[in-house]
Amino acid sequence: MFNLGEKEKKNSFPVKFRKIIQENVKLGSFTSFKIGGNADIYITPSSPDELSAALAFIREERIPAILLGGGTNLLIPDEGIRGAVIHTDRLNKIRLLNTGKEPLVQAEAGTLMKDLTEFCAEYGLAGLEDFAGLPGTVGGAVFMNARCYEKSISDVLISVSALYFSGKECTLQKYDCNKGDWGYKQSPFQPSDKRYAVINGNRPIIVSATFRVEQGDAILIRKIMENRIADRTAKGHFKLPSAGSAFKNNHAFGKPSGQLIDEAGLRGLQIGGAQVAPWHGNFIVNTGSATAQEVVELIEIIRKRVKDTTGFELEPEIIFAG
Ligand SMILES: Cc1cc2nc3c(=O)[nH]c(=O)nc-3n(C[C@H](O)[C@H](O)[C@H](O)COP(=O)(O)OP(=O)(O)OC[C@H]3O[C@@H](n4cnc5c(N)ncnc54)[C@H](O)[C@@H]3O)c2cc1C
Repeated sequence: MFNLGEKEKKNSFPVKFRKIIQENVKLGSFTSFKIGGNADIYITPSSPDELSAALAFIREERIPAILLGGGTNLLIPDEGIRGAVIHTDRLNKIRLLNTGKEPLVQAEAGTLMKDLTEFCAEYGLAGLEDFAGLPGTVGGAVFMNARCYEKSISDVLISVSALYFSGKECTLQKYDCNKGDWGYKQSPFQPSDKRYAVINGNRPIIVSATFRVEQGDAILIRKIMENRIADRTAKGHFKLPSAGSAFKNNHAFGKPSGQLIDEAGLRGLQIGGAQVAPWHGNFIVNTGSATAQEVVELIEIIRKRVKDTTGFELEPEIIFAG
């Protein structure tokens, strides 16, 4: 267990800041998989300043830490997180920016995509309706360059405000979206060491994102959103806890990863409480009591069987935290 010493607790934080720290907090309920042990230290900043202070604190105290958004693409280990988890869920303000030209919508990183798409529908703003039903937060969607119904977040993104580290300095900087920086499920915010959840080095932390929208027909916008949600529901996305697609698709394979898994005869395969969804080859579901270890074992079996039958190496989309 990573212990925050009494000295740090008493002296390092302004009184107000101490309110956003808890110790020994169970993480499973903050993830869509409903899996994972406890965090030694759990921090929930409610403003960009508090986020910046929390980041500076863990850096100064050399506390290992991970960043948690909506937890819909993450697998938290059964033994939990030794160190800190910074959860963005209270950074959830949405603003309509009046530029005098095109309308822009700005949302803080912890805003649920559900709330952002609802906000747009409310104001009759078109552009984000394909993301209705996408679980998780704005920060997670930007970080992952989430893709729904042939549209990627980078297609609608104008800019991002992020905290960048340089030595001991932590500054809020604006990143203007440059298409060349983005790819399928790739964003310029992903660290090159691929330890996506870990806060270390110079990894930027997304504070807010601004999206391009246009005035549209509110009824049509709602209709599209309802259709997207109905389609996901019909495909069984919300039947049991999961982290969405377990593996990335790869055009070079000629088929979606789910089809390769189906053809390898793996639908329904179960290790403990973790199962390849009987209705969707690329979803691993928690049937009730799955452990992270069981999910990892199932992922390895799937990768091996698909490799043996097709020669293709599936790349997990699920992020292993810690
Ligand atoms: C039922 C279901 C359906 C899904 N369907 C889709 C789909 O259609 N398309 C798709 O692309 N994905 C899909 N997903 C996966 C997931 O919802 C997306 O990847 C989502 O964008 C992740 O957002 P999150 O907030 O939950 O991120 P988390 O899971 O919390 O984190 C994901 C990564 O983002 C990083 N991160 C989070 N916030 C920030 C921030 N502020 N700054 C920097 N890094 C940050 C985390 O550290 C982590 O590495 C689905 C998942 C589920 C459960």
